[in-house]
Formats: sequence, structure tokens, C-alpha cells
Amino acid sequence: MTPSLPDTYRHRGQRRSLVTLLREQRGIRDERVLAAIGAVPRHLFFASAFEAHAYQDKAFPIGEGQTISQPSTVAYQTELLDVRPGQRILEIGTGSGYQFAVLCQLTEQVQSIEFNPVLYERGRQRLAALGLPTAGLHLGDGSLGLPALAPYDGILVTAGAPALPPALLRQLRIGGRLVVPVGAADLGQQQLLRITREGPETFAREAFGDCRFVPLLGAAGWAS
Ligand code: SAM
Repeated sequence: MTPSLPDTYRHRGQRRSLVTLLREQRGIRDERVLAAIGAVPRHLFFASAFEAHAYQDKAFPIGEGQTISQPSTVAYQTELLDVRPGQRILEIGTGSGYQFAVLCQLTEQVQSIEFNPVLYERGRQRLAALGLPTAGLHLGDGSLGLPALAPYDGILVTAGAPALPPALLRQLRIGGRLVVPVGAADLGQQQLLRITREGPETFAREAFGDCRFVPLLGAAGWAS
């Protein structure tokens, strides 16, 4: 589905161990998600100073006060999104581009928006260097979604929102899923929610426990 990415024997071995950890100790069941994590060289998505730890289940700084989420979080959010080949997916918060690269293993139709211009440009250059499709990358306020390409089968928010962003609900296809961390600022943590659009005005809500993400900024996010 995507070109084979630059890699090494050592990193492939470390990634196999990470996939085993996600399957046996983090409860990730979807083999398509595990294969996608197994295919993307995470060590190429942040500063080489962290390379030795790239396949541990840890988050790392990516500059501009932002982070690349830990692999178990990426895998769990992706599993909840339940992406099928051919489906149209929108990610909010491109950051390093790692989650985008994982999603690109599952469908060819992935869009991603980043709010921070420095991270947007860095991510674009990195993904281009890896031969991944950069036409799906956008600079802007993802809390408003990307209406021009709606509706989406799945929308994945990788930052914590104060409430469900109304524009994202409107841009879901019937049957589409929004996976989003939502929570009050003072707690510094959120609940991971999955909202399924069951009809034009009908949404089902499921909660999947506490999580901790950097804040979603923008019109339907927190003030920057
Ligand atoms: N998915 C990213 C990855 O794989 O590296 C990690 C995302 S990081 C936890 C959250 C990202 O959301 C940051 O890059 C941040 O700049 C971005 N962000 C925050 N508010 C945003 C908004 N309104 N629209 C788009 N991106 C936003």
C-alpha cells in the first residue's frame, strides 16, 4: 500500500519486540494495526538522540512543546478507529507524522492537519523523504476539521479537546467514527471517547478510560 520505508535489521528486530509487547501486554488485538506498527520505522520520526529508545513504549518530545504519542496510544486509537481499506480518514494533529504513516498502511485516503507551522513543515519534509504521500497534509486549525474533503469514515484527534468539536461531528459519514480525547483543562487528563454517527442527528458515545494528551488548540480547542 505504501512504499517500503528505509530501515535496518536491528530496528526491525526491535519493532517486532514492540509489536509483541502491544499484543501480549497492552491488549491490542487488531492484527492489521499491529502489522501497520510493525511496518513503520518509528526511529525516523524524532531526534536521533532518542533513537536507542525508539521502540520502547514511550512518548518523546518533537519540538514546539509537542510530543509523539507512545506506541500503545497510537495503536489503541487506531484500533478504535477501525480503518478499512478505501475508507477516508482525517487525523487532527500531524505532529511528527508517525500516526499519519501508520494510518497510510491501512488506507490510501488519509488527510492530516497540523496547527503549528514549524511542525507542519518538518513533518512534510520528513514524510516526503520517506516517500510517503504528502498531498494529504494540511496546515490549519483541525478543530474545524477539513470540510472540503468531508465526509470521513473516521476522524482521529491526537490532542485533548475541551468538548466534542461540533465541526468534526458534522464531517462524519453516517456510520463514521470520531476518536477523541476530551477533558477539563484543570485535570490535565482526558477521557478517550469514540463517537459513532448513527444517523444525520444521532450519535452513539463510548468511553475507553483516562488518557493524557497535549491540548487541542484552535477555535474548538483551548486558547493558545
Ligand atoms: N499525531 C502526532 C504524531 O504522530 O507525532 C502526535 C500529535 S501531538 C500529541 C498533538 C499535535 O496536535 C501537535 O503537533 C499539535 O501541534 C497539534 N495540534 C494542536 N491543536 C491543533 C489543531 N487545532 N489543529 C491541528 N493540530 C493541532
